[in-house]
Amino acid sequence: MAGKGGVVRGRGLDEQGRCAHYQSELDVIANRCATCGQWWACFQCHREQADHPFGRMPLDVPAARCGSCGWEMDYDEYSRIEKCGGCGHPFNPGCSAHAPLYFKLQ
Ligand SMILES: [Zn+2]
Ligand SMILES: [Zn+2]
Ligand SMILES: [Zn+2]
Repeated sequence: MAGKGGVVRGRGLDEQGRCAHYQSELDVIANRCATCGQWWACFQCHREQADHPFGRMPLDVPAARCGSCGWEMDYDEYSRIEKCGGCGHPFNPGCSAHAPLYFKLQ
């Protein structure tokens, strides 16, 4: 999948960045790995296709991206909003449970 800011990687991607693991209307967020610098649809895609653990990002680096429009967010912004600041697409509130996998929260 191509979009603003580069390609999103993963398995079974649709044009908004949903993958084989997360397919609801709301699951459009991609996250960037600090180790390989690539955008990924989810940590399970990364586990299947990368040869290293997911590199968690500092909180002030834009490392979450809307698959609908390409809007990029750091953790501070992403954790405060329920829909995209660029296109208004709603995000999955359940994603926040996975934030420690993607960001250096401790
Ligand atoms: Zn990686
Ligand atoms: Zn996935
Ligand atoms: Zn958007």
